[in-house]
Amino acid sequence: SAARIVVIGGGFGGASCARALKQIDPKLQVTLVEPNRIFTACPFSNNVIAGLRSIEEQKFGYDKIAASGITVAALEATTINAAARTVGLADGTSLAYDRLVLSPGIELRFDALPGYDEAATAKMPHAWKAGEQTLLLRKQLEAMDDGGLVVIAAPANPFRCPPGPYERACLIAHYLKTKKPRSKLIILDAKDTFSKQRLFQNAWKELYPGMVEWISLSQGGKVNAVDPATNTLITDFGNHTAQVANVIPPQRAGRIAAIAGATDNTGWCAIDPVTFESRSAPNIHVIGDACLAGAMPKSAFSANAQAKTCANAIATLVAGRSPAAPKLINTCYSLAAPDYGISIAGVYHPKNGLLADVEGAGGVSPLEASRDFRAREADYAQSWFATITAEVFG
Ligand code: FAD
Repeated sequence: SAARIVVIGGGFGGASCARALKQIDPKLQVTLVEPNRIFTACPFSNNVIAGLRSIEEQKFGYDKIAASGITVAALEATTINAAARTVGLADGTSLAYDRLVLSPGIELRFDALPGYDEAATAKMPHAWKAGEQTLLLRKQLEAMDDGGLVVIAAPANPFRCPPGPYERACLIAHYLKTKKPRSKLIILDAKDTFSKQRLFQNAWKELYPGMVEWISLSQGGKVNAVDPATNTLITDFGNHTAQVANVIPPQRAGRIAAIAGATDNTGWCAIDPVTFESRSAPNIHVIGDACLAGAMPKSAFSANAQAKTCANAIATLVAGRSPAAPKLINTCYSLAAPDYGISIAGVYHPKNGLLADVEGAGGVSPLEASRDFRAREADYAQSWFATITAEVFG
C-alpha cells in the first residue's frame, strides 16, 4: 500500500513539503497537520509594522492545498510515539506514518531573558511571529509622540531571519522620518556582526542620518533583562527606557521537535544534510527554522528549498533507493526603504555532515549602486514574495 507521510506545520517549510511530496508521487498519502486555518506570513510583515502594507496581504489559507489531494488536519500535534510511528493530535485521535516531517518553526524562549515572559509580549512585542504581535508593534509606533525612542533588541545567532531586525530598523526609521522626524531608533545587539551589515549601515547613513544607532555586543548592546512595567531594557553598560520596545528574544525549535526527541542541547534539530532526517529520531525529518542547516540561514526561502530536497529524499527512500547529495539555494531580500532593496544569496551542499557554502557561489548586492538598481531589487523582493506564496498556498 502507499506510504503514509505526515507533515507537522503548515508554514513555508511544511506546506511546501506536503505539496512537493504529492507532486513527486501522487500515490503517497500525505497529511498536513496545522491548527491555524489561516497562515500569517512573516516576510514583508516589517512593511506592515511601518504602515506600508495591510496585514491582510500576509494571510493565506489551505483550500488549494486540500484540493490538491493532501489531507489537512486542522489540529495541533501534541505527542509523537517514534517507536510506534504515530502522531497524537489535540482532539485525542492519532495518525500513523511511515515517514514524519517536522516544520514547526520557532518557539520563543521565555526562559532566556529575565523579565521577558509571555505576559511581557503585551507591553514589549517581539513581532517575530506574524499576526497580533505585528499589529501591536504597529499600534505602539502610531501612538508614540514625535521625539520618542524606539529600541529593537536583537538576539545572538542562530535565530529566525538573520537580516530581519535590521530591515525592521530601516522600515521603522522610514516611518519615523516621514511622520515623527524628531524620534530616534536604537538597536541593542547581542552580536558584533550581522547579515548584510555594510549595506544596512550605509543605508542608515544615506537614508536616515542621525536617526538609527546600532550598539553592538562589544559596545554593551546585549540586553540582560527587561522591565515591561517601565519599558526598560537593561545592559551591562546601562539602561535604556523606550517609548516603544521591540524585544526579539532568543529562540529554539518549535516545541513538538523536542517532544519528538529531535532536538539537541542547543534547542535545535541536528539533521542529515542529504535527507534532512533527524540525527536522533529515525524516520523523522526536520526542515525549516527548526533544523540546524549549517551555513543556510533560517528563512522562508531556505525552508522552501529544504522542503523540496526533503520531499525528494523521502520519495526516494520509500521506493527503497538512496537519495543523491543535493544542492540548495537561498536568497534573502531586505528593504532599506520601500524602493531600496538589498539581497544576499548562497548555494549550499553537504560537506562533512553539514550544509556548507559552495565556494565562489552567492554573494551580496554591490556596496556601490544607483538608486535605480536598489529600486529594481525592491521590485525583485515583491516578486519573490508573490511567487513563493503562490507556489506554497496558491
Ligand atoms: P513557519 O513558517 O513559522 O511555519 C511553522 C508552522 O508550524 C506554523 O504555521 C505553526 O502554526 C505550525 N506548528 C507549530 N507547531 C505545531 C504543532 N505542534 N502542530 C501543528 N502545527 C504546528 N524569510 C525569507 O525568506 N524572506 C524574508 O524576507 C523574510 N522576512 C522575515 C521577516 C520577519 C520580521 C520575520 C520574523 C521572518 C522573516 N523571514 C523571511 C523568515 C521566515 O518567516 C521563516 O524562516 C519561515 O517562516 C520558516 O518556515 P518554517 O516552516 O520553518 O516555519
